[in-house]
Amino acid sequence: MNEPDCLFCKISAGEIPADIVYEDDKVLAFRDIAPKAPTHILVIPKRHIATINNIREEDAHDVGLLFAAAAVIAKQEDIADEGYRAVMNCNEAAGQTVFHLHLHILGGRSLDWPPG
Ligand code: 5GP
Ligand code: ZN
Repeated sequence: MNEPDCLFCKISAGEIPADIVYEDDKVLAFRDIAPKAPTHILVIPKRHIATINNIREEDAHDVGLLFAAAAVIAKQEDIADEGYRAVMNCNEAAGQTVFHLHLHILGGRSLDWPPG
């Protein structure tokens, strides 16, 4: 289940440090190392899933929990009412660089739409 060469599996296993803001048995969330907004948090399933393209029906619960965690984190970070973006990049054209599913939570400033 855990991929030995995956950066986010290593963070999830505690092998690489991260600024963790939320954790439960299935989900981990930590601050992005190169934040693109005043609040920039990555929410990951502890179980390795590479991209959105790899999500199967049996993953639906874990993926849903990412959004449930996002709601908790947004409140915690005090961006829930003003608003924020929750987004996943899939593969190169969208800018995915780490191939372990992650939900970006971006907030604390106005965000353009559509993204570039
Ligand atoms: P992607 O481009 O795959 O959608 O997002 C990957 C994100 O992971 C990027 O925003 C990048 O800044 C972040 N990132 C890359 N390496 C690390 C790391 O070692 N620690 C943390 N906290 N974030 C990282
Ligand atoms: Zn992984």
